[in-house]
Amino acid sequence: MLIFHHIKDLRQFLLNKRSVHSQIGFVPTMGALHQGHLSLIEQSKMQTDLTVCSIFVNPAQFNDPKDFEKYPVTLDRDIQLLLSAGTDVLFLPDVQEMYPEEHDYPLSYELGYFETVLEGAYRPGHFQGVCKVMHRLLKIVEADIVFMGQKDFQQCMVVQQLLSLTGITTKLNIVPTLREPDGLAMSSRNMRLGDQDRQTAVFIYEALMQMKSQLQAGDVVQLKKAAADFLTAKGFKVDYAELANAHTLELIDTWNGKDSIVALIAASLNDVRLIDNMMMTS
Ligand code: AMP
Repeated sequence: MLIFHHIKDLRQFLLNKRSVHSQIGFVPTMGALHQGHLSLIEQSKMQTDLTVCSIFVNPAQFNDPKDFEKYPVTLDRDIQLLLSAGTDVLFLPDVQEMYPEEHDYPLSYELGYFETVLEGAYRPGHFQGVCKVMHRLLKIVEADIVFMGQKDFQQCMVVQQLLSLTGITTKLNIVPTLREPDGLAMSSRNMRLGDQDRQTAVFIYEALMQMKSQLQAGDVVQLKKAAADFLTAKGFKVDYAELANAHTLELIDTWNGKDSIVALIAASLNDVRLIDNMMMTS
């Protein structure tokens, strides 16, 4: 695996490779890697000829500076995991490399509704930060396919919007959420959970499963409230337990029994904020 710290070197390398490798796959991450990240690498290896992974803990997407400071960094272990997964290239830029003072990127992106709802509402500025880094990374790597996790459902929608806003031709491939054996969605933040909270965290998955098994056409307000009450009773601070149209993210209070819908939950245990989601319809 080749490791690049500088954009210029990576681009030169990719330019040479592009004539040999017909398809380049890209997996952007913030490190503290787990099997969920590796499932993206695996997909990229299956669908493309050269897999580039990036690790960059993007300060611009942390609305809470304390969350940024506490974000786990496990670089040596990450490199070992990427090697064992057969990653071809690791891009490891620093903040100065990604955000030089002089640049010609937009200062903000037209994200409209996505910035007003769910993660957009609870983490002001977060998706602007995601677009700030993703726009740069997508232009640097110029991949054929970028692989991202359904775990961050709304982020995938925002990146899709970024692709259409910028006209970047990279295709977005959304990879299903990888879960621990008990159902908890794998996340770098899980490392910060104490033993007791780690056991409690699985109730987010149970709340999603309950919503799925009890969903019926008609009024769904009670179903959402029951999920939030269930998690509150288990000791979570619940930001939301919502049902939304899976294509538009429009929140719903009634379901017509036909539209494709997704349940989304964000809830914290002792300041560790967890998000998860599940398609309610196939
Ligand atoms: P992060 O390092 O948390 O920014 O995540 C990097 C990428 O990995 C994002 O596209 C995430 O959606 C994806 N990801 C995170 N957790 C999982 C998971 N449990 N299963 C699949 N993909 C994931």
